[in-house]
Amino acid sequence: MLINLHSHLEGRVRPSTATELALTVDLPEPTFGWERAIALDAPGTLTQYLERVAATYPFFRSTESVRRIAREAVFDAASTGHDHLELRFGPATHADNERGLDEIVRAACEGLREGAESTGISVGLVLAALRHHDSETNTLVARAAARAAGAGVVGFDLAGDELLYPALEPFEEAFSIARAAGLGITCHAAEAGPASAARQAVELLGATRIGHGAHIVDDPDMLAWCADHGVVVEICPTSNVYTGAISSLDEHPEAAFRKAGLPLVLGDDNPMQTGTDLAYERALLQRQFGWSGDELRALDRTSVEAAFVDDADRARLRARLE
Ligand SMILES: [Zn+2]
Repeated sequence: MLINLHSHLEGRVRPSTATELALTVDLPEPTFGWERAIALDAPGTLTQYLERVAATYPFFRSTESVRRIAREAVFDAASTGHDHLELRFGPATHADNERGLDEIVRAACEGLREGAESTGISVGLVLAALRHHDSETNTLVARAAARAAGAGVVGFDLAGDELLYPALEPFEEAFSIARAAGLGITCHAAEAGPASAARQAVELLGATRIGHGAHIVDDPDMLAWCADHGVVVEICPTSNVYTGAISSLDEHPEAAFRKAGLPLVLGDDNPMQTGTDLAYERALLQRQFGWSGDELRALDRTSVEAAFVDDADRARLRARLE
């Protein structure tokens, strides 16, 4: 099965769509075209990685474009075999006086719904607070997420540069609003920061899932703590190489995660930036890391149970798993 539990809308803009949308916002074509402007040539740092993601931001300046990009993201996921796509999105970057948060969120939800209706796959939107935004802005995002709970938004996340903005305390209020609205809680943590960031995300923000968590393995006590508490880790192996979280795929901590008994799910993070997709990431588990058929089935089971979906979608995914 292909259940994508860590993928960013900003990382799924088709280059052909970028070319078309650039014309509508009078954005000059980059020297080597949009495909190369968005994609990374080689692994670097999280900061460099996020700069390439940010190259897509001008395409989120109209609600119609947001809707289109979201719709196409679902089409692309379905055409590459996804059973379920959870997309995350930081709306505050794209809102301004003309386009409020609610409008942007509604446009993304509409695009997802249109894609889901056409393709038959299930989808959900996870709104992301951003580390470099102030608490007030992130609280507004949480309130917008709460208003759209049940209308497409299924979860809340914290994304952005963990190297530059490691503290989690500024986000407590936003996450308490999201939890009160019944949203699923995940958090990018221990991706560039230390192992303790994962535990902090669980204890301070209420995260049940951790994005990447590559550095959890640096501290055996923290690894054991995460396993004891059933903290689900969303692994995105190719992304971790490109952000510099690990120096090569061989350094990926998945074996240590498996050995410790951590529940794992899979994502492709920003596939347009790194030239991957979920099917490729799943193939890596088998080919590169030697996962057995039983281990892949365990990944599927964990994914079905950890997905931020309603009862009907979970039942449908469980039935497909059988
Ligand atoms: Zn991510």
